[in-house]
Amino acid sequence: MVAFTGKRDILANTLERTGTGSLLSATIGQWNGLVVFNYHRIGDPSETLLDHALFSATATEFDQQVRFLKRNFDVIGVADLPRVLHDSSARAVMITFDDGYIDNYEIAFPILQQHDAAALFFIASGYLDDHPVAWWDEVAWMVRTSGLRQLCWEKHFPQSLSLENEESTRRTIREILLKLKSIPEENADNFLIQLGEVTGTGRCPCEVSDQLWMSWDMVREMDQSGIDFGGHTVNHPVLANCDVDRQRMEISNSKQRIEAELGHSITTFSYPVGQRDSFTEETKKLLEQAGYEWGFSFYGGYCPASQFDPYDLKRMPVEERVHQNLFRSIARLPQFFAKK
Ligand SMILES: [Zn+2]
Repeated sequence: MVAFTGKRDILANTLERTGTGSLLSATIGQWNGLVVFNYHRIGDPSETLLDHALFSATATEFDQQVRFLKRNFDVIGVADLPRVLHDSSARAVMITFDDGYIDNYEIAFPILQQHDAAALFFIASGYLDDHPVAWWDEVAWMVRTSGLRQLCWEKHFPQSLSLENEESTRRTIREILLKLKSIPEENADNFLIQLGEVTGTGRCPCEVSDQLWMSWDMVREMDQSGIDFGGHTVNHPVLANCDVDRQRMEISNSKQRIEAELGHSITTFSYPVGQRDSFTEETKKLLEQAGYEWGFSFYGGYCPASQFDPYDLKRMPVEERVHQNLFRSIARLPQFFAKK
Protein backbone atom coordinates (compact mmCIF):
# COMPACT_ATOMS: atom_id res chain seq x y z
CA MET A 1 0.00 0.00 0.00
CA VAL A 2 1.16 3.51 -0.70
CA ALA A 3 1.04 5.77 2.30
CA PHE A 4 1.67 9.22 0.91
CA THR A 5 2.05 11.89 3.53
CA GLY A 6 -0.60 14.56 3.77
CA LYS A 7 2.06 17.14 2.92
CA ARG A 8 2.80 15.47 -0.40
CA ASP A 9 -0.91 15.44 -1.28
CA ILE A 10 -1.27 19.11 -0.42
CA LEU A 11 1.83 20.02 -2.41
CA ALA A 12 0.62 18.04 -5.44
CA ASN A 13 -2.78 19.78 -5.29
CA THR A 14 -1.15 23.21 -5.05
CA LEU A 15 1.23 22.56 -7.93
CA GLU A 16 -1.53 21.36 -10.26
CA ARG A 17 -4.10 24.03 -9.32
CA THR A 18 -1.65 26.87 -9.82
CA GLY A 19 0.00 25.40 -12.92
CA THR A 20 3.34 25.45 -11.11
CA GLY A 21 3.85 21.71 -11.61
CA SER A 22 4.39 21.94 -15.36
CA LEU A 23 6.55 25.05 -14.94
CA LEU A 24 8.79 23.41 -12.34
CA SER A 25 8.99 20.24 -14.40
CA ALA A 26 10.23 22.24 -17.40
CA THR A 27 12.72 24.31 -15.41
CA ILE A 28 14.36 23.45 -12.09
CA GLY A 29 12.71 20.04 -11.80
CA GLN A 30 14.43 18.57 -14.85
CA TRP A 31 14.81 14.81 -14.75
CA ASN A 32 15.70 12.14 -17.28
CA GLY A 33 14.82 8.51 -17.37
CA LEU A 34 11.67 6.45 -17.05
CA VAL A 35 8.64 6.55 -14.76
CA VAL A 36 6.70 3.28 -14.74
CA PHE A 37 3.12 3.31 -13.46
CA ASN A 38 1.47 0.10 -12.32
CA TYR A 39 -2.23 -0.73 -12.30
CA HIS A 40 -4.18 -3.85 -11.36
CA ARG A 41 -7.88 -3.33 -12.05
CA ILE A 42 -9.92 -0.54 -13.66
CA GLY A 43 -13.54 0.02 -12.62
CA ASP A 44 -15.82 0.58 -9.64
CA PRO A 45 -15.02 -1.67 -6.64
CA SER A 46 -18.26 -0.97 -4.73
CA GLU A 47 -20.15 -3.88 -6.34
CA THR A 48 -17.61 -6.62 -5.59
CA LEU A 49 -16.87 -8.73 -2.52
CA LEU A 50 -13.31 -9.20 -3.78
CA ASP A 51 -10.30 -7.06 -2.91
CA HIS A 52 -11.18 -3.37 -3.37
CA ALA A 53 -7.53 -2.36 -2.97
CA LEU A 54 -6.80 -3.81 -6.42
CA PHE A 55 -8.86 -1.13 -8.15
CA SER A 56 -6.39 1.48 -9.35
CA ALA A 57 -8.78 3.87 -11.07
CA THR A 58 -12.27 4.20 -12.53
CA ALA A 59 -12.60 4.10 -16.34
CA THR A 60 -12.94 7.91 -16.39
CA GLU A 61 -9.87 8.43 -14.22
CA PHE A 62 -7.82 6.00 -16.30
CA ASP A 63 -8.90 7.78 -19.50
CA GLN A 64 -7.76 11.13 -18.02
CA GLN A 65 -4.45 9.66 -16.88
CA VAL A 66 -3.63 8.13 -20.26
CA ARG A 67 -4.58 11.38 -22.04
CA PHE A 68 -2.32 13.37 -19.68
CA LEU A 69 0.62 11.00 -20.21
CA LYS A 70 0.25 11.01 -24.00
CA ARG A 71 0.13 14.82 -24.10
CA ASN A 72 3.15 15.37 -21.92
CA PHE A 73 5.50 12.39 -22.22
CA ASP A 74 6.91 9.69 -24.46
CA VAL A 75 4.68 6.70 -23.55
CA ILE A 76 6.88 3.72 -24.40
CA GLY A 77 6.60 -0.02 -24.92
CA VAL A 78 9.09 -2.82 -24.20
CA ALA A 79 11.07 -2.32 -27.45
CA ASP A 80 11.97 1.23 -26.34
CA LEU A 81 13.38 0.22 -22.93
CA PRO A 82 17.09 0.00 -23.93
CA ARG A 83 16.95 3.35 -25.75
CA VAL A 84 15.16 5.19 -22.96
CA LEU A 85 17.16 3.77 -20.07
CA HIS A 86 20.50 4.73 -21.65
CA ASP A 87 19.50 8.08 -23.13
CA SER A 88 20.34 11.00 -20.88
CA SER A 89 17.81 13.20 -22.67
CA ALA A 90 14.82 10.82 -22.51
CA ARG A 91 11.75 11.57 -20.43
CA ALA A 92 9.54 8.56 -20.78
CA VAL A 93 6.67 6.86 -18.99
CA MET A 94 5.37 3.34 -19.16
CA ILE A 95 1.87 2.04 -18.35
CA THR A 96 1.87 -1.46 -16.83
CA PHE A 97 -0.77 -3.80 -15.42
CA ASP A 98 -0.33 -6.86 -13.20
CA ASP A 99 -2.24 -10.15 -12.87
CA GLY A 100 -4.57 -10.38 -15.92
CA TYR A 101 -8.06 -9.37 -14.73
CA ILE A 102 -10.75 -9.27 -17.41
CA ASP A 103 -11.37 -5.55 -16.90
CA ASN A 104 -7.88 -5.04 -18.33
CA TYR A 105 -9.31 -6.21 -21.67
CA GLU A 106 -12.86 -4.87 -21.35
CA ILE A 107 -12.11 -1.41 -19.93
CA ALA A 108 -8.39 -0.53 -20.10
CA PHE A 109 -7.62 -1.90 -23.58
CA PRO A 110 -10.23 0.23 -25.47
CA ILE A 111 -9.04 3.35 -23.62
CA LEU A 112 -5.43 2.61 -24.52
CA GLN A 113 -6.46 2.10 -28.14
CA GLN A 114 -8.38 5.38 -28.24
CA HIS A 115 -5.23 7.20 -27.16
CA ASP A 116 -2.89 5.05 -29.23
CA ALA A 117 -0.92 4.38 -26.04
CA ALA A 118 1.61 1.59 -25.55
CA ALA A 119 1.20 -0.59 -22.43
CA LEU A 120 2.66 -3.72 -20.86
CA PHE A 121 0.48 -6.35 -19.15
CA PHE A 122 2.06 -8.89 -16.79
CA ILE A 123 -0.06 -12.01 -16.45
CA ALA A 124 -0.04 -14.94 -14.02
CA SER A 125 -0.37 -17.71 -16.63
CA GLY A 126 -2.04 -20.19 -14.27
CA TYR A 127 -4.82 -17.68 -13.53
CA LEU A 128 -5.71 -17.51 -17.21
CA ASP A 129 -5.51 -21.31 -17.54
CA ASP A 130 -7.38 -22.39 -14.40
CA HIS A 131 -9.45 -19.35 -13.28
CA PRO A 132 -8.69 -19.69 -9.56
CA VAL A 133 -9.78 -17.19 -6.92
CA ALA A 134 -6.57 -15.29 -6.15
CA TRP A 135 -5.50 -15.45 -2.50
CA TRP A 136 -5.98 -11.72 -1.88
CA ASP A 137 -9.48 -11.87 -3.39
CA GLU A 138 -10.31 -14.95 -1.31
CA VAL A 139 -9.27 -13.19 1.91
CA ALA A 140 -11.47 -10.19 1.01
CA TRP A 141 -14.39 -12.46 0.09
CA MET A 142 -14.18 -14.40 3.39
CA VAL A 143 -14.00 -11.24 5.48
CA ARG A 144 -16.75 -9.42 3.55
CA THR A 145 -19.21 -12.34 3.54
CA SER A 146 -18.62 -13.34 7.18
CA GLY A 147 -21.34 -11.04 8.57
CA LEU A 148 -19.16 -10.58 11.67
CA ARG A 149 -18.53 -7.27 13.42
CA GLN A 150 -15.33 -8.51 15.06
CA LEU A 151 -12.88 -11.12 13.82
CA CYS A 152 -11.08 -13.06 16.56
CA TRP A 153 -8.03 -15.03 15.43
CA GLU A 154 -5.64 -15.08 18.34
CA LYS A 155 -3.15 -17.38 16.63
CA HIS A 156 -2.14 -14.56 14.28
CA PHE A 157 -3.68 -11.42 15.79
CA PRO A 158 -3.55 -10.87 19.58
CA GLN A 159 -6.25 -8.19 19.35
CA SER A 160 -9.57 -8.81 17.61
CA LEU A 161 -9.97 -7.16 14.19
CA SER A 162 -12.88 -4.79 13.59
CA LEU A 163 -15.38 -5.20 10.77
CA GLU A 164 -17.68 -2.43 12.06
CA ASN A 165 -17.67 -0.34 8.91
CA GLU A 166 -16.17 -0.18 5.43
CA GLU A 167 -13.02 1.56 6.58
CA SER A 168 -12.24 -0.93 9.37
CA THR A 169 -13.13 -3.83 7.08
CA ARG A 170 -10.58 -2.61 4.53
CA ARG A 171 -7.99 -2.21 7.27
CA THR A 172 -8.68 -5.73 8.53
CA ILE A 173 -8.34 -7.20 5.02
CA ARG A 174 -5.05 -5.32 4.61
CA GLU A 175 -3.70 -6.65 7.92
CA ILE A 176 -4.62 -10.25 7.11
CA LEU A 177 -3.00 -9.93 3.66
CA LEU A 178 0.18 -8.52 5.19
CA LYS A 179 0.38 -11.54 7.47
CA LEU A 180 -0.29 -13.96 4.61
CA LYS A 181 2.43 -12.37 2.45
CA SER A 182 4.99 -12.98 5.19
CA ILE A 183 4.51 -16.72 5.76
CA PRO A 184 6.26 -19.57 3.88
CA GLU A 185 4.47 -20.48 0.66
CA GLU A 186 3.75 -24.06 1.78
CA ASN A 187 1.70 -22.73 4.72
CA ALA A 188 -0.39 -20.29 2.66
CA ASP A 189 -3.19 -22.71 1.84
CA ASN A 190 -3.52 -23.78 5.46
CA PHE A 191 -3.74 -20.12 6.47
CA LEU A 192 -6.71 -19.70 4.10
CA ILE A 193 -8.41 -22.85 5.41
CA GLN A 194 -8.10 -21.51 8.97
CA LEU A 195 -9.40 -18.09 7.92
CA GLY A 196 -12.42 -19.84 6.38
CA GLU A 197 -13.00 -21.45 9.78
CA VAL A 198 -12.69 -18.32 11.90
CA THR A 199 -14.90 -16.31 9.52
CA GLY A 200 -17.36 -19.22 9.26
CA THR A 201 -17.48 -18.87 5.48
CA GLY A 202 -15.34 -21.80 4.40
CA ARG A 203 -13.38 -21.47 1.16
CA CYS A 204 -14.55 -19.10 -1.57
CA PRO A 205 -16.61 -20.96 -4.22
CA CYS A 206 -14.75 -21.26 -7.53
CA GLU A 207 -17.69 -19.82 -9.55
CA VAL A 208 -16.73 -16.43 -8.12
CA SER A 209 -13.77 -16.31 -10.48
CA ASP A 210 -15.42 -17.85 -13.58
CA GLN A 211 -15.52 -14.50 -15.39
CA LEU A 212 -12.67 -12.81 -13.56
CA TRP A 213 -9.63 -13.39 -15.80
CA MET A 214 -8.82 -12.62 -19.41
CA SER A 215 -8.94 -15.46 -21.92
CA TRP A 216 -5.95 -16.30 -24.11
CA ASP A 217 -7.98 -15.11 -27.12
CA MET A 218 -8.26 -11.69 -25.49
CA VAL A 219 -4.53 -11.66 -24.77
CA ARG A 220 -3.78 -12.57 -28.40
CA GLU A 221 -6.06 -9.83 -29.69
CA MET A 222 -4.30 -7.27 -27.52
CA ASP A 223 -0.88 -8.62 -28.51
CA GLN A 224 -1.73 -8.34 -32.20
CA SER A 225 -2.76 -4.72 -31.75
CA GLY A 226 0.66 -3.84 -30.32
CA ILE A 227 0.15 -4.32 -26.56
CA ASP A 228 3.14 -5.92 -24.76
CA PHE A 229 2.92 -8.89 -22.39
CA GLY A 230 5.23 -10.15 -19.67
CA GLY A 231 5.43 -12.95 -17.09
CA HIS A 232 4.15 -12.74 -13.51
CA THR A 233 4.70 -16.41 -12.47
CA VAL A 234 2.20 -19.26 -12.92
CA ASN A 235 0.46 -19.23 -9.51
CA HIS A 236 1.45 -15.83 -8.11
CA PRO A 237 3.35 -16.87 -4.96
CA VAL A 238 5.67 -14.43 -3.18
CA LEU A 239 8.90 -15.77 -4.72
CA ALA A 240 11.09 -14.94 -1.72
CA ASN A 241 8.87 -17.32 0.32
CA CYS A 242 9.46 -20.21 -2.12
CA ASP A 243 12.40 -22.62 -2.39
CA VAL A 244 14.66 -22.36 -5.45
CA ASP A 245 13.01 -25.20 -7.41
CA ARG A 246 9.56 -23.69 -6.98
CA GLN A 247 10.87 -20.25 -7.97
CA ARG A 248 12.51 -21.69 -11.08
CA MET A 249 9.29 -23.47 -12.07
CA GLU A 250 7.14 -20.37 -11.54
CA ILE A 251 9.53 -18.16 -13.51
CA SER A 252 10.33 -20.51 -16.43
CA ASN A 253 6.92 -22.11 -16.89
CA SER A 254 5.14 -18.77 -17.01
CA LYS A 255 7.47 -17.64 -19.80
CA GLN A 256 7.01 -20.83 -21.81
CA ARG A 257 3.25 -20.80 -21.36
CA ILE A 258 2.76 -17.19 -22.47
CA GLU A 259 5.16 -17.63 -25.40
CA ALA A 260 3.28 -20.75 -26.54
CA GLU A 261 0.00 -18.79 -26.58
CA LEU A 262 1.44 -15.69 -28.25
CA GLY A 263 3.75 -17.44 -30.70
CA HIS A 264 6.70 -15.18 -29.91
CA SER A 265 9.17 -14.61 -27.09
CA ILE A 266 8.65 -12.30 -24.11
CA THR A 267 11.44 -10.53 -22.20
CA THR A 268 9.78 -8.85 -19.22
CA PHE A 269 8.65 -10.11 -15.81
CA SER A 270 7.12 -8.48 -12.73
CA TYR A 271 7.64 -9.92 -9.25
CA PRO A 272 4.37 -10.87 -7.48
CA VAL A 273 3.73 -8.38 -4.65
CA GLY A 274 7.00 -6.70 -5.76
CA GLN A 275 8.19 -5.30 -2.41
CA ARG A 276 11.90 -5.20 -1.53
CA ASP A 277 11.53 -8.46 0.41
CA SER A 278 9.29 -10.22 -2.17
CA PHE A 279 12.26 -11.33 -4.31
CA THR A 280 15.96 -11.97 -3.75
CA GLU A 281 19.26 -11.83 -5.65
CA GLU A 282 18.68 -15.51 -6.40
CA THR A 283 15.28 -14.66 -7.92
CA LYS A 284 16.93 -12.12 -10.22
CA LYS A 285 19.48 -14.73 -11.37
CA LEU A 286 16.68 -17.20 -12.08
CA LEU A 287 14.98 -14.57 -14.24
CA GLU A 288 18.16 -14.09 -16.26
CA GLN A 289 18.66 -17.86 -16.63
CA ALA A 290 15.09 -18.24 -17.88
CA GLY A 291 15.74 -15.65 -20.60
CA TYR A 292 13.95 -12.68 -19.11
CA GLU A 293 15.83 -9.43 -19.76
CA TRP A 294 13.88 -7.11 -17.47
CA GLY A 295 12.37 -7.51 -13.98
CA PHE A 296 9.94 -4.96 -12.51
CA SER A 297 9.40 -4.32 -8.79
CA PHE A 298 6.54 -2.51 -7.05
CA TYR A 299 7.87 -0.54 -4.10
CA GLY A 300 7.95 2.94 -5.58
CA GLY A 301 10.65 5.03 -7.22
CA TYR A 302 11.53 5.64 -10.86
CA CYS A 303 14.45 4.79 -13.16
CA PRO A 304 16.87 7.70 -13.72
CA ALA A 305 18.70 7.39 -17.08
CA SER A 306 21.76 5.10 -16.85
CA GLN A 307 21.15 4.38 -13.14
CA PHE A 308 19.07 1.27 -13.10
CA ASP A 309 19.14 -2.45 -12.37
CA PRO A 310 17.50 -4.31 -15.31
CA TYR A 311 16.15 -6.85 -12.81
CA ASP A 312 14.72 -4.23 -10.46
CA LEU A 313 13.05 -1.57 -12.59
CA LYS A 314 11.05 0.50 -10.16
CA ARG A 315 7.35 1.15 -10.52
CA MET A 316 4.89 3.53 -8.92
CA PRO A 317 1.61 1.94 -7.79
CA VAL A 318 -1.55 3.71 -8.94
CA GLU A 319 -4.09 3.18 -6.18
CA GLU A 320 -7.19 4.88 -4.90
CA ARG A 321 -5.13 7.19 -2.74
CA VAL A 322 -3.27 8.40 -5.82
CA HIS A 323 -5.67 11.17 -6.84
CA GLN A 324 -5.34 12.88 -10.20
CA ASN A 325 -3.14 15.76 -9.02
CA LEU A 326 -0.75 13.41 -7.27
CA PHE A 327 -0.63 11.18 -10.37
CA ARG A 328 0.37 14.20 -12.48
CA SER A 329 2.97 15.30 -9.95
CA ILE A 330 4.54 11.83 -9.91
CA ALA A 331 4.92 11.99 -13.71
CA ARG A 332 6.12 15.61 -13.82
CA LEU A 333 8.47 15.54 -10.83
CA PRO A 334 9.31 11.90 -10.00
CA GLN A 335 12.46 12.90 -8.11
CA PHE A 336 10.17 14.41 -5.46
CA PHE A 337 6.92 12.46 -5.78
CA ALA A 338 7.83 8.94 -6.98
CA LYS A 339 8.46 7.66 -3.47
CA LYS A 340 6.55 5.59 -0.99
ZN1 LIG B 1 0.30 -9.57 -9.01
